[in-house]
Amino acid sequence: MANWKENKIIGIVAIVVGILAIAGIVFSFMPKKVSLTLMSESTGQVIKMKVKIGAEFPIVDPATGKTDLYPAMGYKCSNGHEFYVLAKADKGGGLSAMPPRCPVDGTLEVQPIEE
Ligand SMILES: [Zn+2]
Repeated sequence: MANWKENKIIGIVAIVVGILAIAGIVFSFMPKKVSLTLMSESTGQVIKMKVKIGAEFPIVDPATGKTDLYPAMGYKCSNGHEFYVLAKADKGGGLSAMPPRCPVDGTLEVQPIEE
């Protein structure tokens, strides 16, 4: 009977640890970040990066330190050239309605690349 206080404390600690463990598991399953294809506006470099959901673009490019990373869409033209286009909102807030054009041969026959 001498240890009843100690046992109680151990019991409480065990419950707290258990709750924290469950919270940690639930938290780790929540999608906090998504992997996106991004392109630097200044260098044109395309990178894959995990981005927080709801992040506002542009975001900082870890390679250059510049805040000019935008989501990019990959396209492939009918001649097999692959290129990326910035999915950058214009001042009106909407995405550009311009059809993407292959930068190599100028063809408009392009298909989005499935990620
Ligand atoms: Zn092309």
